[in-house]
Amino acid sequence: MAGTVLTCIVNLKKFKQGERSNQILFVGFSILFTAIYIDALDELFEFPKIITIVIEDIFQIIGLLMIVYGITLWLKKQETQKNALVKLATTDPLTGAYTRRYFTDKVKEILQSEKPRFCILLFDIDHFKKINDQYGHNVGDLALVEFSSLMEKSSRESDLFARWGGEEFILLLPHIALSSATEKAEQLRQKLADTVIQLPEVSFTMTVSIGVVEFNPVTPKLETLIDIADQRLYKAKQQGRNQVVSS
Ligand code: GH3
Ligand code: MG
Ligand code: MG
Repeated sequence: MAGTVLTCIVNLKKFKQGERSNQILFVGFSILFTAIYIDALDELFEFPKIITIVIEDIFQIIGLLMIVYGITLWLKKQETQKNALVKLATTDPLTGAYTRRYFTDKVKEILQSEKPRFCILLFDIDHFKKINDQYGHNVGDLALVEFSSLMEKSSRESDLFARWGGEEFILLLPHIALSSATEKAEQLRQKLADTVIQLPEVSFTMTVSIGVVEFNPVTPKLETLIDIADQRLYKAKQQGRNQVVSS
């Protein structure tokens, strides 16, 4: 009894500031302990039956149910915290797109699979420096967020969109041939060109150049694929920007 009272006093502070799951667990254990004490005292004093039935049995059930509920809430909270940490480690804080590191790890995993089949689209926003120069760095940041959100919205669940660095992004399209990936890239390019980026103080349009590459067993390394996509992207820039190059 003295032990429980002490535990209650120690935990009262925690209870006041505590998480819901801790509070439920605390109350649940307190009710369960009360039932156990009454059971022990019952052995000595032979309480009326009504007390043993109502307090002992009902308190035991309520206490146990609250403990189970408290543990469930606590486990859910741990899961949410874990997911938040994973998100923090794998996504870019500005745009919410996956990080370059996450992207390369995922592609390397796919490259280990039996018959990999995918295409990669490498994006570089055209004359992005001008947006920063004209409207300021904050607007540039918001433009990157808008670009990222537009590309994500236009992608499938199975696609993997990541920020490659600065104003460069990358998209993995699984199980797709070069012709379809080029079509998809063309749709994305057109979609961006047609979209007015509407921010609180300014509105403008942006264009993007895209290099497309298909996985090929002859060049199975990610670095080689990225090099090819980069050369095509460079070609798109040289040819006047706002275009897709896939050969
Ligand atoms: P190009 O068409 O040749 O790609 O021209 P560009 O101006 O887009 O390319 P350049 O490489 O000259 O400039 C890229 C600019 O992107 C410069 C850099 O300050 C800006 N940038 C990179 N990361 C960020 C960012 O996180 N926020 C903002 N606001 N700007 C960024
Ligand atoms: Mg660039
Ligand atoms: Mg650029």
